[in-house]
Amino acid sequence: MPVGRRASCPREVRGVSPDTAASRERNEQTVGSAWLTLPAEHRALLQTVGADQWRIVNEPLGTVASELLRSAGSHTLSKAEQASLNDAVGVWVPSLRAVLINEAHQAIAGLDTSSREAFLARIAWHEWGHALSVARCSPDDIADGARLLDLAPAGISASIRTANYRRSQYTHELIAEIYALLMARRLRGVYGQPPWLHSELQQLIVRTTNLSD
Ligand SMILES: [Zn+2]
Repeated sequence: MPVGRRASCPREVRGVSPDTAASRERNEQTVGSAWLTLPAEHRALLQTVGADQWRIVNEPLGTVASELLRSAGSHTLSKAEQASLNDAVGVWVPSLRAVLINEAHQAIAGLDTSSREAFLARIAWHEWGHALSVARCSPDDIADGARLLDLAPAGISASIRTANYRRSQYTHELIAEIYALLMARRLRGVYGQPPWLHSELQQLIVRTTNLSD
């Protein structure tokens, strides 16, 4: 998606301090650059599945998503769903056709510029990887999540297990995390299968995202 088609509304920055507006603009540019890092084929697929727009906000995502869904005349989120999303830095909401990112999240506060850019890009790549996974995974891939998690590097599998995802989310989270790391590598000009990636997971990524280089 061209950066000009981003979902966030310019009105959101009115009435806030110039510093906040400048920070929002930098964050928009970071996510826009991360989008352009994706292979064109992926951007086209993400457009098809409704994950090609994003909205950067400065409130907890459960609250924001619930309000956006309500104003779109869609279902609202339960209190429990809102509470769990309120902890997230990013989320893809298919019925809004948008990725939401909370730039005021405590995980971002205090990061220097380059760390914040790297972190925001990783969040965006994760959410886009998530959307590709949902679009392309087979029921067998999803059912195989716990075993696939065992094949992942310990840091990735531990972060997914301790985040209390349902087992049916394991494969999507795994693909999203690996996808984000592969995109970061590509940005550095490094392609091919990383030494830390099990061949079976590499094949899963290739099959679900067509990322073959
Ligand atoms: Zn995820």
